[in-house]
Amino acid sequence: MNQSTSVIESNFPSLPLTGKGRGEWKRLVSGRHGRRLRRLLHIKGDESDRLFHHLIRPRLSFTTKKIEAAGSGSVTLEGGVVLESDKLSKVLEGCRRAVCFVATIGHKIDRKIELLALSHRCSDEYLVDRIGSLAIEEYVHAFHLEMAQRFRGRHQDATMRFSPGYCDWPLEEQEKIFSMVDSARIGVSLLPSLLMKPRKSVSGIFGIVEAEGGRLPDIYNPCTQCEECACHERRSTLSHHGDKDHRFRFYRFGSNGGDDS
Ligand code: SF4
Repeated sequence: MNQSTSVIESNFPSLPLTGKGRGEWKRLVSGRHGRRLRRLLHIKGDESDRLFHHLIRPRLSFTTKKIEAAGSGSVTLEGGVVLESDKLSKVLEGCRRAVCFVATIGHKIDRKIELLALSHRCSDEYLVDRIGSLAIEEYVHAFHLEMAQRFRGRHQDATMRFSPGYCDWPLEEQEKIFSMVDSARIGVSLLPSLLMKPRKSVSGIFGIVEAEGGRLPDIYNPCTQCEECACHERRSTLSHHGDKDHRFRFYRFGSNGGDDS
């Protein structure tokens, strides 16, 4: 396993819940949903940020790889790993390095969801499942954003983020991400079905863009040139300058390749 893997652990309340995720989170943890969740989780008081402190334990493992070639439908990383996706190859074209990561919010929320399913409490199960999907997406979003901010201090930037199973990148490529990232250190394993365990986990990649002539190039968004009108995963921002946040946000929240529960 690559020795340069780094691991980040953080408390869920420190996550900056922003944008669409923040709105849905607030709706689910306040009012009648919030009361139901507190009853379900045996939590007293009403501090929504602390509501899931004991249930959500975010951890992330990442490594940086040199990009040897990108374009024409594939990306070759150092060590000979070849990622097959036309859209990803265009996103990473021109980048010299990429960040590969695996993130999770841990096993506890899985167990809670399983117990609710076993007792046929479908609406409670849905509520906790949805909270888990929002939490893992917000965690990965926060990591991507923070890395981009760090890069900008060095005249670099981050590309859009891709996960196996997203857009034209086959879920089978999940194995390649796991071959590069030390996921065991954060307790995430890849099942033969290619789903991750714990379920609320996300793997992915984004490139590091270098400034040219003192200027950072526009970040490429393949959705702006795509004719798949019915795609639910579209990231719809028109330009880097129009919305600097667009590359950080998936509009289909989920985990394990993006379940839209
Ligand atoms: S619209 Fe959908 S299919 Fe087209 S590039 Fe974006 S994510 Fe991929």
